[in-house]
Amino acid sequence: MDFRSVYTEDESAAIEKEFTRLKEKCYLDHAGTTLYAESQIRAIQEHLTQNLFCNPHTSRTTEDLIDQVRYRVLKHFNTRSSEYSVIFTSGTTASLKLLAECFTFDPQGAFVYLRDSHTSVLGMRGVVGTDRIFPIEREALLRHLTVDGNSSNEFVSLLVFPAQCNFNGVKYPLELVEKIKDRGLINCERNQFFICVDAASFVSTSFMDLTRYKPDFVSFSFYKMFGFPTGLGALLVHRDAAHLLHKRYYGGGTVKIAMAGRSFHVDRDSLSERLEDGTVPFTSIISLLQGFETLERLIPPVRGQCSMERISAQTFLLGQYCFRKLQALRHGNGQKVVELYHDGDFEDSTGQGGIVNFNILHDNASFVGFAEIACMASLHDIVLRTGCFCNPGACQRLLSLTDDDVLKHYRAGHICGDANDLIDGQPTGSVRVSVGYMTRRSDVDRLVQMIENCYIRKHSSNRLPRSLIVCNYKNYCQPQLKMICLFPIKSCGALKVTTSWPLCPKGLKYDREFVVVDENGVALTQKKLAEMCLIRPRINLETNEMILTHPSMADFTLDLGFSADASGTQTVKLCQTKVCQDNVQAIDCGDDVSEWISVALQTSGLRLLKQSDVEVRSVQTSEREISLSNQAQFLLINQTSVRWLAGMVPDWDDLRVEPSLESLVDRFRGNLVIETSKELEECRWQRVKIGESEFSVDGPCSRCQMICIDQTSGVKTAEPLRTIAKEFKGKMRFGVYLSNLNLRNNSGEELLYCGSTIQGLIE
Ligand SMILES: *Cc1c(COP(=O)(O)O)cnc(C)c1O
Repeated sequence: MDFRSVYTEDESAAIEKEFTRLKEKCYLDHAGTTLYAESQIRAIQEHLTQNLFCNPHTSRTTEDLIDQVRYRVLKHFNTRSSEYSVIFTSGTTASLKLLAECFTFDPQGAFVYLRDSHTSVLGMRGVVGTDRIFPIEREALLRHLTVDGNSSNEFVSLLVFPAQCNFNGVKYPLELVEKIKDRGLINCERNQFFICVDAASFVSTSFMDLTRYKPDFVSFSFYKMFGFPTGLGALLVHRDAAHLLHKRYYGGGTVKIAMAGRSFHVDRDSLSERLEDGTVPFTSIISLLQGFETLERLIPPVRGQCSMERISAQTFLLGQYCFRKLQALRHGNGQKVVELYHDGDFEDSTGQGGIVNFNILHDNASFVGFAEIACMASLHDIVLRTGCFCNPGACQRLLSLTDDDVLKHYRAGHICGDANDLIDGQPTGSVRVSVGYMTRRSDVDRLVQMIENCYIRKHSSNRLPRSLIVCNYKNYCQPQLKMICLFPIKSCGALKVTTSWPLCPKGLKYDREFVVVDENGVALTQKKLAEMCLIRPRINLETNEMILTHPSMADFTLDLGFSADASGTQTVKLCQTKVCQDNVQAIDCGDDVSEWISVALQTSGLRLLKQSDVEVRSVQTSEREISLSNQAQFLLINQTSVRWLAGMVPDWDDLRVEPSLESLVDRFRGNLVIETSKELEECRWQRVKIGESEFSVDGPCSRCQMICIDQTSGVKTAEPLRTIAKEFKGKMRFGVYLSNLNLRNNSGEELLYCGSTIQGLIE
């Protein structure tokens, strides 16, 4: 099993230089968007800064240049302006919507779409000017390659299918266009079909030759071809179908004349002038030139193959390599590791693009949830996509989900884009990896390696628990609070307390009061920068100071006595930031501490913000106040459960020494660390009494990558996430969230003591 690059060594080296920003990242989501080259952006900058580009309604030069770009787009598709018009839109979705709104159906005309279409096509159903709307199955569509339909030219109708499926990269033969235009569709007796090919996924790595195939309409987005600009796509319209497009709205330069007082206007003659409302995004359109130029410069045509044909060959071979590697993976007991969702065997580039879609299986053939794989990939710096990829038809067909299954999943709380990856063991979606013109073999190898390391079970022996879990819990009859941990700065190290700590209405006093944001004002987390755990704050309650420590820095002391309404002693800046999807009002803590943090984390432009007292985050479901923590006031972690979990971990493959219990407990970043006589006891509690304080249990905490980061070194490991997901049937849950029941009426100064006994109550 091997892969031989289509590019020469020099070409590969030149391409690699264009994406240095990837650093350690392995990018495998080209079907989401491909990446722009660095020289492409430099050339665009040069072009825009050296020329004066005015509104095309003002400047003839700009207008002419835009027409030049139209010719360039058509050249890419090997056609000319005498055959096709280019209508610029904001993207594929907008192109399809425009077509749905403008296409003039015969009163008995039909709208037929491939079932396995992107939701952008499914959405056309709500707008098209006919009630006769039918899906067509993949098999039924392909049958038209060999069987004639019913030809007729009576009722003007529209058929839409993709040139390549965005779910698994299978291509649809474009011969279908001619066949169906000539001979009609089976079972559509008297309809004359005009055909729209949704080429959004296809064009990213394939050559569409519009001299050979002549669909009436073609939709696509440019960012999938060369990464930049976004927000720009096109609808290509064949001249024989242009007369069918009529629209009711007009605005900007799309009319020859209009009157303000009377409903009178005359459309412009050329199709693009009629359909492109308002001012076209002219700087974006102009920037397309460098996109096309970059592809041709990096992958020049050779021996009669154009750049796109070479890219198509290269990405197909990489996809094939990935497919075959995954197909060959086996567990120790012989069970396959990867369930592949494909419609062909990756035989050649005319039938398949560089997309591989799959789910992972345990050695007992049960599914690993895709949300877990997404976490694991992200932990390994691999960018891929999970879910249903806006293609419910393909998802249902390939995962064998009936309409009832889909409804059942929805009723069980699953919606597109969430982390409900398994319902009753059945996957609601899958994993998609996709390659682009710059993807290297090593990128695919990294993915395969990650799956091998994290999911292959080499031996199927029933492992016995190791020494770590032979514990001494017999000493405690009563559950006990062992330690209080607070995280004054969100995502930084813990402040561990073994004595007592005050509670406040938001939870533990000073817990997650602060947040570090990057130069764009976006909250920084350990997921992005694991080294944040090396900053360990201490708090002196007497002097009201926070002391920041870091292994390689001198300590920094921050006075906590400032606030937004500080009377002139300190100038404070209020700002907005987004933490865990909530907007929060915060106060900037000043230059000195921000500088210290930027140096400590070796990232310039960081700022430390303190949650403002002015406005507090509120949780929708209750009236509780919480600080910048993830979901609730307190996270309770049971040391006994962690010990049990550690015993279940078969192998810390990526660590030389097994982590200590303490370091494992640290990874969970709980606020209240307890010990009980039996593991997982806490999962059954509905209320908890710790000493004199009472808490309600808000539910389990669903864990993600954070638990894979060793809190003393910042090193990332695949465990214990893998084992948690396995032991809890794909649910990444560990620890429970609590909120304090008496705090709201409490003016503060209630203390929580370590060593207090704990009563878990089941109602
Ligand atoms: C990406 C894609 C779309 C949607 O494109 P947008 O740029 O998001 O509008 C539609 N169809 C297919 C096949 C795609 O791959």
